[in-house]
Amino acid sequence: MDRASPIERLVHAFSRMPGIGEKTATRLAFFMLQSKASLSEELAEALLEAREKIRLCSVCCNLTEMNPCRFCQDPKREDHVICVVESVQGLRAVEATGEFRGRYHVLHGVLSPLDGIGPEQLHMSELLTRLNADVDELIVATNPSVEGEATGLYLQRLCEPLGVRVTRIASGVPIGSDLEYADQVTLARALSGRRDL
Ligand code: ZN
Repeated sequence: MDRASPIERLVHAFSRMPGIGEKTATRLAFFMLQSKASLSEELAEALLEAREKIRLCSVCCNLTEMNPCRFCQDPKREDHVICVVESVQGLRAVEATGEFRGRYHVLHGVLSPLDGIGPEQLHMSELLTRLNADVDELIVATNPSVEGEATGLYLQRLCEPLGVRVTRIASGVPIGSDLEYADQVTLARALSGRRDL
């Protein structure tokens, strides 16, 4: 089998990123090759440094440089409520509303049986270990998709026997959209209008 050329390798690497098709990948690859070498060096170094220093928080699975992360360490945040998000971008979106003062948990995905993603592929077990007597509410703030809803219902079934109330952020965030693209007012309203699952 022929070994891919350096350009093909670069295009292939870009094309594996979310939202980047073959065309954009090709454009990015040629952009990098025609830019100053320092840009490639900066990008390569930034990637390696981030990969080396950023870890999953051992409590909430947020990506962080310090462990536990700043949200888990902050003594001023409330312990009784945990907001469950599917991605770090979701966490950032909720945090940007300034309306939530509890703790977070990042699942790194949602249930999607068709894609082979079950509870074991998500950071559910870490969440379960956090559900002690101090926690009385779980706010499910997954993206408003079929999978996001199914994940909420799954969590509800899981938490009901433990006496933890499970709520879902209100609609208002359009179905099929990502939380990170909802404006802060809409998301803040969705948070305050959350309902029991
Ligand atoms: Zn954390």
